[in-house]
Amino acid sequence: MLTPQEVERLSEEFETKTPQEILKWAIDMFWPQIAMSSSFQTQSVPLLHMVGQINRNLLIYFIDTGYHFWETSIFREQLASEWHLNVLDLYRDTRWDVFVRQRTRTLPLDDPNLCCFIHKVQPMQAALKDMLAWISGIRRDQTATRAKARILELQEDGLLKVNPLLNWTKADVKRYAEEHNLPSHPLYEKGYRSVGCAPCTVAIGVNDDERAGRWQGRGKTECGLHTTMFAQKDFSKLKNDFQTDISEMDRRKSER
Ligand code: SF4
Repeated sequence: MLTPQEVERLSEEFETKTPQEILKWAIDMFWPQIAMSSSFQTQSVPLLHMVGQINRNLLIYFIDTGYHFWETSIFREQLASEWHLNVLDLYRDTRWDVFVRQRTRTLPLDDPNLCCFIHKVQPMQAALKDMLAWISGIRRDQTATRAKARILELQEDGLLKVNPLLNWTKADVKRYAEEHNLPSHPLYEKGYRSVGCAPCTVAIGVNDDERAGRWQGRGKTECGLHTTMFAQKDFSKLKNDFQTDISEMDRRKSER
C-alpha cells in the first residue's frame, strides 16, 4: 500500500486533477476494497453521477439514521434505481437500540454529538473496517474544518480517505449539474441548501452559507465523519464530547 510520503506527493499532484481523474485513480488502485459515502442531497448528485459513468458497481454507503426527511429517502431510491447505483444502507449498531428508544425524540436536540456518533460515525467505522479506501464528497468551501482537508488523507488505521471534490466550489457543483441536467433533492428549492436529518436541518436564505441550516444555533457544524472523532473507535474515550452519561453502554461493552 501507499506510504505516508507517497500519499502526500499524490495528494499534491491531484490538486490540479479533475474529480473524475481522482475518482478513476482511486477505484483502479483499490478495487474492490473501496467504497463511497453519500448523503444523497443536491450537493452529492455530481459525484454520484460521475460514479455512474466510471464504475456503477462501486459500493456507495447511505447512512440511514432513521431521522431523514422522507424526501431524502425517496430521492435516494430514485437515483439508485435510475442510475443503477450499488447503494447499501447503514444503520446503527443494535447494541444501542434500547438506549436510543428511550431517547428517540430528545437525543438529536439534547446530545447531537452522541446522536451523530451512534447513527453516523459508528456505522461508517464498521462499514469501512475491511476497506482500503473511502471516497467522500466534502469540499473545502463548505466549512472551516473542511477547508483544511487534503485530497488524500491517510488515517491512523491505514484507511485512505479520498476527497475528489475538495477543490470544487458551490458554483462548480451548479455548473456540472446544469451541464448534465441533473436532478435536485426535492427540498432544495424550498431553501434546504444542505440536507441532513430532519431534527437538525432548517431552510436558509439564498445568500447564507450552504451549511448554515445544519444544527443551526447549536454550536455544531460537523457530524464527526470528517473530524478527529472518526478515528476514535472506543466510544468510552469520547465521553467528554457527549452530554449524556453513557456509562451504562460502556459497562455493557466491557461485559461482551
Ligand atoms: S444530524 Fe441530528 S438527528 Fe442526525 S444523527 Fe446527527 S444529531 Fe442525530
